[in-house]
Amino acid sequence: MTATQPPSAWVAGLRLRCPQCGQGRLFQGYLKFRDSCAACGADFKAADSGDGPAVFVILIVGAIVAPLLIILQFGLKLPGLAALTITMVAAVALCLAFLPPFKAVLFAFQWKHKAREATHADIE
Ligand SMILES: [Zn+2]
Repeated sequence: MTATQPPSAWVAGLRLRCPQCGQGRLFQGYLKFRDSCAACGADFKAADSGDGPAVFVILIVGAIVAPLLIILQFGLKLPGLAALTITMVAAVALCLAFLPPFKAVLFAFQWKHKAREATHADIE
């Protein structure tokens, strides 16, 4: 295999592709990392982006749906239950839509910067 420039972490992550080669799919299923890249063989077994993606998604979706609720209820004067239902459906849909790309982008940056969990070996 020739040594090629790895893709941008943003591009690889947003395309849900391997951060090493940019070709192989990163996930099997919705949010589960594959064991390795089918294209380049990069090992994803240690992949763990932790709670990072969920934190970003919560903050961003909250910033979208909170104003949406206010607009629906007080701007458009929808009944409270209708406004709340629309807002909750939007919140769930946005969270489900944003989680895979955020998880993939964070993992791509971890891969790029060789981030890993700190151990006792790091301080000795
Ligand atoms: Zn790959």
